[in-house]
Amino acid sequence: MGYNPAFGCGSRGMVMIRAPWLVVVVYVLTILASPAATSADGETAPGRDAKQPVDEAYTAKIHKYTTQPFFTSPLVDYLPASKTVPTPETVLGDVAGAPGILPYAEDVYKYMRLLEKASPRVKVFSIGTTEEGREMIAVAVSSPENLKNLEENRARLAKLADPRTIKLDDAEADRLVSQAVPVYYITGTIHSPETGAPTALMELAYRLAVDESPYIREIRDGMITLITPVVEVDGRDRMVDIYRWHLSHPKDFYPPLIYWGKYVAHDNNRDAMGVTLKLTENVLTTYVGWKAQVLHDLHESVPYLYDNTAGDGPFNAWVDPILTDEWEMIGWRNVADMTKFGMPGVFTHGVFDTWSPGYLMFIAAMHNGISRLYETFGNGGADTRERTLDAEEYARTWYKQNPPLAKALWSQRDNNNYEETGLLTSLHYFNENKRLFLKNFYLKAKRSVTKPTAEGPAAYVLPADDPRLGSQAELLRVLQKQAVEISRATSAFTVTLPAKKPAKAGAKGNKDAKEQEAAPAPTTREFPAGSYVIRMDQPYSRIADALLDYQYWSPDDPQKTPYDDTGWTFGELFHVQVTRVTDPKVLDVAMEPVKEIRAPGGVSADGTIFAINNNAEPSLATLRYKMRDASIEAAEEPFEGGGKKFSRGSFLLRNVSRAQLNDAISDLGLQAIAVSAMPSVKTHPVRAARVALVHTWLSTQTEGWWRQALDHLGVPYDYISTQTVSKAADLNAKYDVILFPPVGFASSPTAIINGLPHEWGNPLPWKNTPETPNLVGKNDSTDDMRPGLGWDGVEHLQSFIEKGGVLLTATDTSRFALSIGLADGVSVGNAQRMKIVGSVLGTRLVDGASPIAYGFDEKLSAYCDNGPIFSLSSISGGRGFRRLGGEMHTRPTGRGTMDDPDFTVGRPSVEAPEEPKTEIWENPIPTDEQLHNNLRVIPPANRARVIFRYADSRELLVSGLVEGGDEIAQHPAVVDVPTGNGHVVLFSINPVYRGETRGTYSLVLNTILNFDSLNAGRKLAEK
Ligand SMILES: [Zn+2]
Repeated sequence: MGYNPAFGCGSRGMVMIRAPWLVVVVYVLTILASPAATSADGETAPGRDAKQPVDEAYTAKIHKYTTQPFFTSPLVDYLPASKTVPTPETVLGDVAGAPGILPYAEDVYKYMRLLEKASPRVKVFSIGTTEEGREMIAVAVSSPENLKNLEENRARLAKLADPRTIKLDDAEADRLVSQAVPVYYITGTIHSPETGAPTALMELAYRLAVDESPYIREIRDGMITLITPVVEVDGRDRMVDIYRWHLSHPKDFYPPLIYWGKYVAHDNNRDAMGVTLKLTENVLTTYVGWKAQVLHDLHESVPYLYDNTAGDGPFNAWVDPILTDEWEMIGWRNVADMTKFGMPGVFTHGVFDTWSPGYLMFIAAMHNGISRLYETFGNGGADTRERTLDAEEYARTWYKQNPPLAKALWSQRDNNNYEETGLLTSLHYFNENKRLFLKNFYLKAKRSVTKPTAEGPAAYVLPADDPRLGSQAELLRVLQKQAVEISRATSAFTVTLPAKKPAKAGAKGNKDAKEQEAAPAPTTREFPAGSYVIRMDQPYSRIADALLDYQYWSPDDPQKTPYDDTGWTFGELFHVQVTRVTDPKVLDVAMEPVKEIRAPGGVSADGTIFAINNNAEPSLATLRYKMRDASIEAAEEPFEGGGKKFSRGSFLLRNVSRAQLNDAISDLGLQAIAVSAMPSVKTHPVRAARVALVHTWLSTQTEGWWRQALDHLGVPYDYISTQTVSKAADLNAKYDVILFPPVGFASSPTAIINGLPHEWGNPLPWKNTPETPNLVGKNDSTDDMRPGLGWDGVEHLQSFIEKGGVLLTATDTSRFALSIGLADGVSVGNAQRMKIVGSVLGTRLVDGASPIAYGFDEKLSAYCDNGPIFSLSSISGGRGFRRLGGEMHTRPTGRGTMDDPDFTVGRPSVEAPEEPKTEIWENPIPTDEQLHNNLRVIPPANRARVIFRYADSRELLVSGLVEGGDEIAQHPAVVDVPTGNGHVVLFSINPVYRGETRGTYSLVLNTILNFDSLNAGRKLAEK
């Protein structure tokens, strides 16, 4: 999970090692394996049963590929033999974890289906497909009886999962607990360069199906093990391609895995909030559908097995403490079991904090189960390699009494041994204590149902009169994917909202003023019929609460390195109204369950011209491209028509068929009002701009979310790389708008221009060949990933903008654009103390007449992760420093009072001219002195135009962590810089991120739709 970009990266030549050292290894543990029986401690001893026949040839290979006798355990140092069930060797051609062997997902499935065919203890289920159409599966392994009674058992678990069905009756729950068979769900290789899980899980399935030792039999008879051996199927196949390429070019550098899934790489494990990716949806549906108790996700990074189930804190504030106790119980027991086997490097305390619910495993934590995650040690492929660790990795600490070796030969088999041993001991411990965990499963669900009267809130309400019904529907659909029940009020209702606590007086708080303040009173709010109600008396209230509530990460928290984002409040990021209601009476409101969320849209009234109000709904862009031939104009000022008020940027459509329009908007939540005449308001055309989306060959992680958003909205674009830009002399011939979304990893301006080092080494092709049939998929290709944008590319971008093109950048690409002089009058300051880690920040509208701001209000929340601090200057190349010597601008010590003019003895007093005062987000007005014969003064028409700025310091934090926020407070957040005949539009926020920021999408979409009218409504300074 910890992202190590070196995995699968060709920074060093990796040569396969098939070594004679293996011969000298002594297999103590095999010899010691005793006949399994109940030990003195009352527990079933792990290990082979004396009567268990062993597959000698397979076992010999396990030993051969295990590099040290202590890198295995009595659970996995032999393979049970079966006369009827095929071993993984049947498909792999060698044993699981053998050097040089990485199976494609298809081969893994083939094996699982062979198992199913040969054993009544295995069943394979198809659980959906990926973005590129590959299948995902879940494999159930249990006793034939359990598999025969799956439905009966599921019904029992469903009652425990939804205690309303048994009227919260604890006695009935106990009866169910005593009969139910729990489901333990294991997921492998969501992170494609972490390659070991599929073979480990093939062999695990075999062992669970075949082994007759009491230890394994108890697991098989007592519970259902559910396995998704490959989560990121598209990425797995690419990774296997790369590895095969490496095997056939053993002396060459091999290409880093730039694409995993169709859209994102490492972030596929940050999608459990937005559920934007198919893999998240498929695993979530499987987890919830099976009513599983555990979701155990397998990763690889640190040596040798880090069970990062139990985090370092702060824990997510919405999980049940019953769960945090379970983490500790299971995690430490797991360490204890493996410690007894003498396996070094097993630990459960580390850097993970458990705050964000974005991880795949957190699906369980947010749905009343148990989330678990392993980091084992992978080699980023199936080579056996000498691995040298950092001092902090091999140090012996209080939580790592038997640390990893400073240096060791490490094989994929070692990794598989650790994964399987960890899983088998986990399964066994879980089975031994399954009544406890099943009861906890019920209790967590029950406590979710009783949330309204316990900790609250009672409900969240999304009003029927929200101006952004399309975005509201999108947010509700996310909740539906999360298995949250949604209701709709059948009549209007009123709720009481708690009194707002007055802001705490500061250290020097004025006591008198405080006493004078009237005690704040509760208020009421009325909601119209049709408002959506998310009731908190439902089993999955926890996830709804976690997504819709606000987050606060204290700057004083002892945890100084948040593992991921610290804030995510979905109502804010979707720009949708969400009211947290604590008054339990809201649950008595007449309401009905909602199955399908539909944002009402359509045409009303009579006329041949159609007006659609602009509320910054992303679906306006969908409409523009859906009706490509329609003539659409945008109003530059607000107007009235058909008895309705329309805001700036509202669409006016002419010469379109009413039926066609009605059809196009009925699903988009857009309302068109027909009017008989064109309103008398200034307009400009809204054209279907030709868009390019530029990526680097350094990282595609962050821009992938932009592609996902545009695809989802139906906004077409050409997906091109910086290399394409470097070769395209006339970008204007093909494009009106170039989006250059954040690069993320390795995004320095020099890296973007230079690319990867290419003064040495071999070309790194990213293209489909017979050897690498899956690499390209639906993305991009190149003969050599190494070259970057180059200076030609810089020149082409410059000329594109000069000739009227629009370049849009965000976060690190904004830095890039400014550092190479693509825009003037904006500089980036260096943060001294500022720490904003994936937070939701307040921004404020500065220039509502700019088309980029169409449809937005005064306040807008946005995602920011230490965004660049923009400052403005009216002097070319100038930096936006405040002038020094502020004290000189006040009255000097002298005669009279502070308000009296100063005087000088011996001459008449001269009044100083009024100084021009500008705010932080405004262009400083050049002084007469600066204006004198100064070529560097930027003409008013070329100065930066700020669209949104960050809020003032005390209103900056909406959700998450903000420390030293005054450094960025009030600074521009979105700036439009007219350059030549074109524009550079710079974002300090990231407007398109993880499917969570729909509320800021329209800042990008407005730029696209109004690309040739961005100067509309602009007021120029006088000098
Ligand atoms: Zn990982």
